[in-house]
Amino acid sequence: MPELPEVETVARGLRQAILGRRIISVSLGKTDFIDDPAALEQHLPGRQIEAVERYGKFMLLRLSAVNAENRVTTNGDAAPPSLLVHLGMTGQITPSPAGQPLEKHTHVCLLLDDGRELRYTDARRFGRIAYLTAVSLAEELTGFGADPLEVSKEEFADRICGRRARIKALLLDQSVLRGVGNIYADESLWKAKIHPARLGVKLNRKEAEKLRRALQEILQKAILLRGSSISDFLDAEGEPGEYQRHHRAYGREGKGCHRCKTPVRRAIVAGRSSYFCPRCQPSPRGFVALPITGKNGRKTKPRATEKSQKRNGKSR
Ligand SMILES: [Zn+2]
Repeated sequence: MPELPEVETVARGLRQAILGRRIISVSLGKTDFIDDPAALEQHLPGRQIEAVERYGKFMLLRLSAVNAENRVTTNGDAAPPSLLVHLGMTGQITPSPAGQPLEKHTHVCLLLDDGRELRYTDARRFGRIAYLTAVSLAEELTGFGADPLEVSKEEFADRICGRRARIKALLLDQSVLRGVGNIYADESLWKAKIHPARLGVKLNRKEAEKLRRALQEILQKAILLRGSSISDFLDAEGEPGEYQRHHRAYGREGKGCHRCKTPVRRAIVAGRSSYFCPRCQPSPRGFVALPITGKNGRKTKPRATEKSQKRNGKSR
């Protein structure tokens, strides 16, 4: 699933490509992932795309307020509305010449005033599109946590250190931080040498700061490399990202740790596959990696090594 760096990459691409364009018309295919399809058809035509922003893992296309000239129907709210776009698992949004044949699974086409179409394709339709008035957008945005690129040292520690949940779960929790998913959680925990199963409350503020810095460095670098393309992520120009070549933990089960050569392990933490180095990221006392089924269908042994547990018993 696209996480913060991938969504940021798409948002930057769209900013380059469609900023200032006016939406002429809307055509829809399957609409089960759209909040209110009729609202798109009714309210988008005539509006200009004034900004493209990222908020956590979704994008906001900020639209112009009612344009009297084009007799845009008002939505009962004079403040500028937005189009929320969440790419889900397989969503892609990209401008194409209007005459170009539609890709399979194209479900939304916005004809723009320069003859191109902004097209949204989504094979699995786990994404979401919603036309939101300023009021409904404000409601939508309540309950999200801090942006990991902007969060201060103090706020990060406050959000993590008091919590009795596992650090991996806290990183994934969008009400704690917005935008982090499985890949960048594992990568930053590896970099900060923190086991994903440790409890937030067991991290001291120095460790929390190490994690915040690791997370920010990794996210920045991943944005520079235009995100990670694991299965089918493509940016707004239809190009894959390159950060997957720099993964140190995620997807590397059985391969040597880049620091100490110990084989990277996988365990289910917070309900998700989690990759970590059992030596660099000592497990908390009592943590037993659940048996998980390997690629070939065999059960892999739950080797959250007793040695590493003993070794770390002291420090925790
Ligand atoms: Zn290691």
